[in-house]
Amino acid sequence: MDTSNFHRLLNKQISKHLPADSLKNEHLQNFIKAINESYFNFERDKELFEHSSLLNEKEYAEINEKLKKEIKQRRLSVDKLIDAIYSLEEKEGLEANKIIDSNNLLVLVDYLQVQIDNRKKMEAELRLAKELAENATQAKSEFLSMMSHEIRTPLNAIVGMTYLMQQEEVSDNMAENLKILQFSTDNLHALINDILDFSKIEAGKVELEKAPFDLKQLISNIKKANQIKAEEKQNSIKLMIDDDVPNLIIGDSLRLGQIVSNLVSNAVKFTKNGSITVELTLQKRAGNNAILGFSVTDTGIGIEPHKQQLIFDKFTQANSETTREFGGTGLGLVITKKLLQLHGSEIKLFSEAGKGAKFYFSVELEVASDVIKLKKDINLEFQEEDILKGVKVLLVEDYPVNIKVATKFLERWKVNIDIAENGKIALEKFETGKYDVVLMDIQMPIMDGYTATSEIRKIDINVPIIALTASATLNNQDRAFTVGMNDYITKPFNPKELFNKIAKFSVKS
Ligand code: ADP
Repeated sequence: MDTSNFHRLLNKQISKHLPADSLKNEHLQNFIKAINESYFNFERDKELFEHSSLLNEKEYAEINEKLKKEIKQRRLSVDKLIDAIYSLEEKEGLEANKIIDSNNLLVLVDYLQVQIDNRKKMEAELRLAKELAENATQAKSEFLSMMSHEIRTPLNAIVGMTYLMQQEEVSDNMAENLKILQFSTDNLHALINDILDFSKIEAGKVELEKAPFDLKQLISNIKKANQIKAEEKQNSIKLMIDDDVPNLIIGDSLRLGQIVSNLVSNAVKFTKNGSITVELTLQKRAGNNAILGFSVTDTGIGIEPHKQQLIFDKFTQANSETTREFGGTGLGLVITKKLLQLHGSEIKLFSEAGKGAKFYFSVELEVASDVIKLKKDINLEFQEEDILKGVKVLLVEDYPVNIKVATKFLERWKVNIDIAENGKIALEKFETGKYDVVLMDIQMPIMDGYTATSEIRKIDINVPIIALTASATLNNQDRAFTVGMNDYITKPFNPKELFNKIAKFSVKS
C-alpha cells in the first residue's frame, strides 16, 4: 500500500503502531484510507475556521470605524444644532439658563418642542395683533371718510358763498375779510382732501390707473394753475422740458400730477421774489418704457439739514411758524412720498438753508404710441356767458344751504332749475317733467341718490345724472357709476367744474 500521499500525522501513527505485513489486509487498507480522508477534512475545516474568524475581525474593524465616524458626525451636528439654538435665543430666554446636554438627545428634542410651541404661540399672537391693527386702520379710514363728509357739507356752503360774495361790489374792508375767509376755507378744504387721501393711501386703497395722457400738457397745466400765486409773490415759474420726452405716456395722470403739483405749490409757497424751475428729462429709453427725471427747484427759504428727513413725516413742518405764515397741513410731502412709492420710486431732496430747495425723482413709465387718440373732455372755457341758458336741471339735494349755493350759481348761468329735496321727490318730478341734466346728491333722507338713480334709469336711460356729493371715497364713486350715474362732482364743488360738467352733458357741440 502506497502511503506517501497520506496525511503526515497518519503516516507517523502507521509507522509507529502497525507492522508492515498488516498493511496487506484489504479491510485494514480501506479503513486507513477513510481515516486519511478524515484527517484531510479536519485540516480543511480548521483552515476554514481560522480564515473565517480572521475575516470577521476585519469586517468588525471596518464596521466599528464606520460607526465611530457616524457618531462623530452626529455629535458634530448636535453641537451645531445647540450652537444654532444658542445664537437664535437670547441667553436669558433659555429656561433657567439651561445648558443643553448634547449627549442627551431626548432633552434636546423636548427643548426644541417647547421652542416650537412658543414660536407657534408667538406667531398666533402676532397674527391677531396684525388683524387688530388692520381693523383699526380700516375703522380709522372709515371714520375719517365719514368725518370728511360731515365737514364737506357745510364747507361747500362756505366756499360757495365766499366765492359769490367776492363777485359782488363790496367795500375794501369787506373784500379784505373775504380774502382771509377764502384763504382759510381753501386751507380747510386742502386739509380735508389731504387727510382723506392720506387715509386712503395708508389703508392701501389707492391703485394707480393706466391710461394714456399728454405729460408735457400735464406739466404745463400745473404751471398755469400755480401762476397766479407765483405772481402774487413776484416769483417766476420756468419749464424746462427735454425734447426727447415722449408726448404720450401710459400711467396715472391724476396721481403723477398730484406729485408734481405738491412740489410746485410748495416751491411757490416757500419762495419770494425768486424763481421756480420745473425740469422734465428723458433719462433712459428701454424698449417700450421711458425713465423720466422730474425736478422742482426753487430759490426760496430752503430747509435746514436736520429737518430734511423730518419733513417727509406726517404733520411735520420744518418750522412751527410755517402754518401761521404759509398755511398747509404737513401732509403734502408724505402723500407725495407714498404716491412715489406706489410708482416704485423715491423722492430726493437737496437743499441749503436760505438758498432754496430741489426736490427730484425719476419714474419708469410706459410710452404710448402717438396714434392713440386721447379721450378728451369737452372742456369749455368757464365763461359767464349764456352757454347754459335755458338748460333744464333737476337739483336733488336735501341740505338747504347747499340748495341755496347751487341755485345761486345755476341762476347766474341762467339755467332753468327745479329742486327735489330727496330721491323720492326727484322720482315724482321726473315722471312729469323733462330734464337735460340731473344733479344728484347721494346721502339724503327717505330715498338716497343711488336708489333714485336706479329708479330713474328704469324710466329714462339717457338723461345725464351727475353725482354731486360730499363723500369722495372711491367706493362711493364706483357705486355711483354702477347704479348708472354719468359723472361725479365732489363738494365743495369748484364752480368751473360744475359749469363744465353741465355743459359737457347738455350743450350739443
Ligand atoms: P405743508 O406744505 O402743507 O406744510 P408738506 O408736507 O408739503 O406740508 O411740507 C412739509 C414742510 O416741508 C413744509 O411745512 C416746509 O417746512 C417744508 N418744505 C416743503 N417744501 C419746501 C420748499 N420748497 N422750500 C422750503 N421748505 C419746504
